[in-house]
Amino acid sequence: MSQRTFSIIKPDAVRKGHTGAILAEIEKAGFKIVAIKKVSISKAQAEGFYYVHKERPFFGSLTDFMSSGPIFPMVLEKDNAIADLRKLMGATNPANAEEGTIRKKFAGSIEENAIHGSDAEETAAFEIGYFFAGCELV
Ligand code: ATP
Ligand code: MG
Repeated sequence: MSQRTFSIIKPDAVRKGHTGAILAEIEKAGFKIVAIKKVSISKAQAEGFYYVHKERPFFGSLTDFMSSGPIFPMVLEKDNAIADLRKLMGATNPANAEEGTIRKKFAGSIEENAIHGSDAEETAAFEIGYFFAGCELV
């Protein structure tokens, strides 16, 4: 069944000029881009987005990184979108990412790992609402 997920092209990938190549991988894999925009977020906005990780040792560094430059948040749609995007992204640490995955191709480190993807239906709903209004999702 058709499902929506939320993704972000992270600041490292935007800085390196990989935005177009990553979008091509996403479209090649059968995802429809429902909505996309270029934004820069504040440290506080990054903290709100990643609040589930607030107790983790890397929270300060992660939120500095996510607010360090422009990003492309987007809403993607296809059958089984949440699991299929996670598979296309590859492991969090690019050293462990499978050949052919976006993180294998474009990520520099476990933190600067090029792309975010929602990990469950409830997180996808929260994350879509964090960046997009209902009227942007037609
Ligand atoms: P994302 O949520 O961004 O899609 P993920 O689900 O693969 O990635 P999480 O465990 O949710 O990984 O971690 C969120 C993000 O925090 C990672 O994508 C990465 O940018 C950063 N991160 C995770 N683990 C570490 C770590 N050990 N050191 C530094 N940064 C980390
Ligand atoms: Mg995650």
